[in-house]
This record gives sequence, structure tokens and C-alpha cells, in this order.
Amino acid sequence: MNAQIISIGTELALGQTVDTNTAWLAQKLAAVGVACAKHVTIDDQQAAIEQAIRTAANETELVLVTGGLGPTPDDVTRQAVAAAMDVQLRFDEQSFKYIEEYFRARKRAMHPENRTQAMFPDGAKPIRNHFGTAPGFHAVVGLTDIYVMPGVPREMKMMFEQYVLPFIEEAAAGETIVQRTLHTFGMPEAEVGEKIADLMERGRNPAVGTSAADLIISIRVNAQGATHDEAARLADVDVFELISRLGNVVYGEGDETLADAVAKLLIDQKKTISTAESCTGGLIAKMLTDVSGSSAYFTQSFITYANESKHRLLGIPAELIGQHGAVSAAVAEVMAQKCREISDTYYALSATGVAGPTGGTPEKPVGLVYITLATLANVVVKELRLGEILTRSEIRDRTAKCALNLLRLELLKNIQR
Ligand code: AMP
Ligand code: MG
Repeated sequence: MNAQIISIGTELALGQTVDTNTAWLAQKLAAVGVACAKHVTIDDQQAAIEQAIRTAANETELVLVTGGLGPTPDDVTRQAVAAAMDVQLRFDEQSFKYIEEYFRARKRAMHPENRTQAMFPDGAKPIRNHFGTAPGFHAVVGLTDIYVMPGVPREMKMMFEQYVLPFIEEAAAGETIVQRTLHTFGMPEAEVGEKIADLMERGRNPAVGTSAADLIISIRVNAQGATHDEAARLADVDVFELISRLGNVVYGEGDETLADAVAKLLIDQKKTISTAESCTGGLIAKMLTDVSGSSAYFTQSFITYANESKHRLLGIPAELIGQHGAVSAAVAEVMAQKCREISDTYYALSATGVAGPTGGTPEKPVGLVYITLATLANVVVKELRLGEILTRSEIRDRTAKCALNLLRLELLKNIQR
């Protein structure tokens, strides 16, 4: 079993309070043979905490969270975990009674705000706090157990030793677990789920579960066995089955990124790539060159953000931009073609779109993006409608990933031919 610890609090992120909880917890985990793979510290921001929970649930089987369970509006851990679980908060009568009892025993008046401390993500199991007002809770995201505990070190330690540790010891004992994670791109999570529903049945070994983050749907396979070999064999069988059912949408496993998958294919096929980017500002090139050894296939990128630059660097006719607008299939197409010619690469990718949050119009809303893949023989233009509710960075990230995936699928065609 592997684990991750997330500590939450602006005072921790700013360095005003030293995070002693994480160090203490990591040592406790190590003592029962659970490796802690990662420590994360986040300030009290709901979206960031939600993202961290989703990522952690993708990466590890056990997540310990501390902090952000106070009664004041700056504590948002419970909301963030609920969002990561895709559920609402629910009031728990029993926990509220315990909180009332806590105040009564100390002859102190309870504030109305303390009521929020009896709110839990729907489906989560409250954990009583005998030493403070903030109950903890046990939640499950995908296949991952998440224990959320208060930030006050004394309260956290008591809760961990009394309640959480026994569960971890039990889960970690006796058997070995082999975990593998496949990543897919281009198929909605619901469709993935439909195709592999029988493998995802509860209680099955291996346990198979999906999770989604930034257009990537990951499938975790957790196989249990008396020995490592037995667990590994069981996991192998499922991984093989998943790949045969899902085909090309599976792009990698474990730490592999879309860019890694593309890199492998480009190297195997001895092909080269260049990019011409507008709304992504070089992000596609960044992703491509994140891979060590990328000089074997990546030659250059044009970041032609201004119309003037599209004209001057790529030779896009001003009339074409005038006629169709910079965000158009026509411009995306010529960007890729010209980029390929100038760069003398086998492939070229281009992207032009409205990354927002400003600049959208009824005809060309935020999230409208055109990506193009050019080869000597043909060009493929794809219109993406990523949606207006996404942030600028999400739109850029998704655009770059869609572009890499377009290239990946094209490269796969060469193998199947
Ligand atoms: P919270 O649960 O976020 O309201 O935190 C309550 C108190 O516990 C605050 O005074 C924090 O400074 C302290 N605290 C929270 N997290 C940690 C941590 N990881 N290490 C040490 N102290 C902490
Ligand atoms: Mg706090």
C-alpha cells in the first residue's frame, strides 16, 4: 500500500506555521510498512484542495488529510473533498450532538457556525473528535481511502491513533497489492465505464476503478494476492483485457504522459514535429519538450500570438485572417501547413482559439479552439468546443492535450497500416 499526505492551511503554505502533522504521520505510516510517496501542502482554497484530492486519489491508495475543518468560512476542506467526490454536503445529527456535548461539558456556549462542523460529504463516514469540536471523516474517491483529520496536532494525533491507524494496519497486513494505472484520452468517462462495467463490479479482485482529471480518464487496477507474483499476474490479465476492450484510447500507464506516448511513436517512426501556437502560447511545444531526448523529433515552435506575427513569421495572408478571423479553421490549417514547410518537419501542429475569460463572442465563444495536424499529404483540422466555464489555464491545457492526441492517433495509423 502506498500513501500520500495532504496538509491544508494558508499559515502552512505561507510558512508561518511549520507542518509538523505530515512528518509525524509519515513516520507513523512507515512504522506499519506503508510507504508515503508524496507530501502536499495547500492553502485554504477550495479548488486547489479539490484538485489535490483528485490527483492523490489517482496516484495512491491511501490519503491522509489534515487541516481546514474549523467552523469559520476560511476552512473549506469538507467542501473540497465533497467536490472531489462529486457529492453534496450532508448534515449528520449524531456528530452535531457530540459537538453540543463537547461545549456543554466545558460549560461554553456553542456558536451557530459550529453547525458546519457536523456537515460531511454525502457517503463519508464521520469520525468523532474527543478532544475538540472538529470531527474527521473517512471518504472514498475511486478506489482510494481518504481520512480527513483536524489540523490541531493534538486532536489529529489522537484521532489517527484511535481510529485511523487500526484500519491502515488491517488493510496493509498479510497480502500484497499490485497496483497498475492505465491512462486514456478521447473517450468520455461514462463510455469507458460502460465498456468495462463488469470488471468494475464491487468486491471483485482485481478491483478496477476509474477517475477523471483534465480530460484524462485513468483506470486503476488493484490486484491482491498472497504473493507479489500472484497479484502481478492477476493485474496483468486485467490490464490486457482493458487494453483489448478500449484499444487506441489507452495511451499509457503509470507516470506516462500523452507527450511520452507521442515521443515513443515519433522516435520509433523517425518522424519530426514542429508547432505553430496562438492560444496555447507554446504549451504544446512545452509538453513535447518536457520529455528528455525530445531533440530527436522536436525542431521548433512559432508562438504567433498577434495577427501581425502570424503574417510575418508564418506568411499567413492578412486577407485570410481578415476574412475568417484569427480563430478559424482556415487560419489554423494554414498555420500548420506553413509551419511544417518552414520547419521542414514531417508533422506540424497548430492551435488557435479563445482561451478566455475575456474575448468571447456569440459566434466565437470562450473555449472555441481549432487544432490542426499537417503532413505533406494532408491536413486534419479539428474544432474543439471546450466550454465557457473552464479557466484559461484549463482551456490551454486541454487544447494542448487534444493536439498531442491528434498527433498520437495519426502516428498509430502508420503502425496499423
Ligand atoms: P485547522 O484545522 O485548519 O483549523 O487548524 C487548526 C490549528 O492547527 C491551526 O492553529 C494550525 O496552525 C494548526 N495546524 C494545522 N495544520 C497543521 C500542521 N500540518 N502542522 C502543525 N500545525 C497545524
Ligand atoms: Mg486552517
